[in-house]
Amino acid sequence: MKATIELDSVRRQFDRGTVIFEEREAASCAYVIETGLVEISTDVDDERRVLATMGPGQMFGEMAALDGTERSATATAIEDTELTLIVSDQLRSRVESAEPILKLLLSVILNRFRHEQKLFRHPGNGGCESLRPDAENVVSKGAIDKIKLESDLRGALEKRELALHYQPIVSLASGNIVGFEALLRWRHAELGMIPPQSFIGLAEETALIVPIGRWVLEQACRDLVRFQAHARDGLSMSVNVSGRQFAEPAFIGEIANVLTETGIAPETLKLEITESVLMDYRSAPLRWIEQCKRLGTQIALDDFGTGFSSLSYLVRFPIDTLKIDRSFVAAMHDDSRSLKVVRMINQLAHNMDFDVVAEGIEEPEQRTALARMGCELGQGFLFSKAVHFDEAIELL
Ligand code: C2E
Ligand code: CA
Ligand code: CA
Repeated sequence: MKATIELDSVRRQFDRGTVIFEEREAASCAYVIETGLVEISTDVDDERRVLATMGPGQMFGEMAALDGTERSATATAIEDTELTLIVSDQLRSRVESAEPILKLLLSVILNRFRHEQKLFRHPGNGGCESLRPDAENVVSKGAIDKIKLESDLRGALEKRELALHYQPIVSLASGNIVGFEALLRWRHAELGMIPPQSFIGLAEETALIVPIGRWVLEQACRDLVRFQAHARDGLSMSVNVSGRQFAEPAFIGEIANVLTETGIAPETLKLEITESVLMDYRSAPLRWIEQCKRLGTQIALDDFGTGFSSLSYLVRFPIDTLKIDRSFVAAMHDDSRSLKVVRMINQLAHNMDFDVVAEGIEEPEQRTALARMGCELGQGFLFSKAVHFDEAIELL
């Protein structure tokens, strides 16, 4: 009778007493126990020691399968046992695509475990051998930088290193400023000015975007009061909001509070969300947007055209404004297809009663072409980059 039977390409059956793999064998896979019992053992000074007994649902053999070294123990079926194979590539591809800090943690833990094993097997001579700093065990600079940046970001609000800059949104026909978009800046004590692309993602991953976003909303609304006092009541403020903020149960209440405390007309606050927010949270965004609309605020769909741009979003969500992503505006003149996309978005938006803001206008020709298509509003370096409050008020 055969001790091992191949049930199919990934399942194996081992009779009671069969060795599944032996210590020092090369490894190509890990195993998950479907039925039966497996004993893991090792030889210490020619004496067999049982390290563990494992049952259904448990995985073994993953260490060597992960780091490509030889098996550090022997696995034996102590009952008739059925196993599912997980080949090394399946494990490694997942580790490769993992978040860098998770990857690092795994490599450090694996390394420590191997070291402990060595001490266990050779208690006499291995005791003073220190952990070998091989390439995998050395903390990568990228991962350290990220952890440091996260620690610094935790303190940035308190240390008042965060600031808002304001970029005007203008009427393409008249050139008048109709509002501002608040854009976050981080003045790091040692690293200087850090652009949002370098820390917003990190803030979202770590949920730091929740307190930071709360501060952005409050600060932008307080500054809007001053802008409106200087110019006119109708001036609007656009604030970028992450899905992570919306998902916080207190968020809608915070918007209501800020409206009450500042006394701004709700429709002059415009919350900018991206399509990814609509996609990532199933049915919740419709509720969030409806709650915002009940408070009287406006909703803009940011970076339109870059994501999935599903037309069903435009039907399902009560949106006020579409912001055409700057990549289309930049490509408009060299690429007739981009021009057609911009024209199509404008027509669609107007048919559905949305406002359109074209982002990233840098050239007068872009402004003219957009205005000719009926695009009312624009934003870009042609008018002004995002500037400090004092400079922004001078623009009015
Ligand atoms: P966004 O919301 O699409 O903001 C527009 C970005 O385009 C800004 O970059 C702005 O400076 C830049 N920009 C404006 N006009 C031009 C132009 O004519 N040419 C070019 N090449 N670029 C232009 P910024 O300030 O670096 O912000 C980058 C992104 O960071 C924003 O993209 C937004 O997604 C995010 N962000 C900024 N502030 C916040 C915030 O308070 N909260 C959240 N959640 N995200 C924010
Ligand atoms: Ca935006
Ligand atoms: Ca945008």
